[in-house]
Amino acid sequence: MTRQHERCPSCSRRLVVSRFDATFRMPDRSERLHFGIPGRLCEHCSQLYIDPELIDVLDLGRGRCVFAIESDLVVQEQAWST
Ligand SMILES: [Zn+2]
Repeated sequence: MTRQHERCPSCSRRLVVSRFDATFRMPDRSERLHFGIPGRLCEHCSQLYIDPELIDVLDLGRGRCVFAIESDLVVQEQAWST
C-alpha cells in the first residue's frame, strides 16, 4: 500500500505523514498527552491533522492540539524503552 503525498488544505505544502506524540488542550483547560498517534503535520502552519475517526476514538472532538512531535525523533533521542 502506497500513500500519496498529501497536501495541507490551507497552504498546499506537503504534509509530514508519520506518528506523533501530541498534547491536546481540552475546554476545561486540562491537557492530554497521546503517544504515537498517526497523523499528518503541516510544518508551515504548525497544524496537525488527525483522522476524524481517531478523534472520535480518543474523544478529542473539543480538544485543540497545542504540541506535536514526531514519535520517531523521540525514539532516537531518548532511546525510549517500554
Ligand atoms: Zn499548511
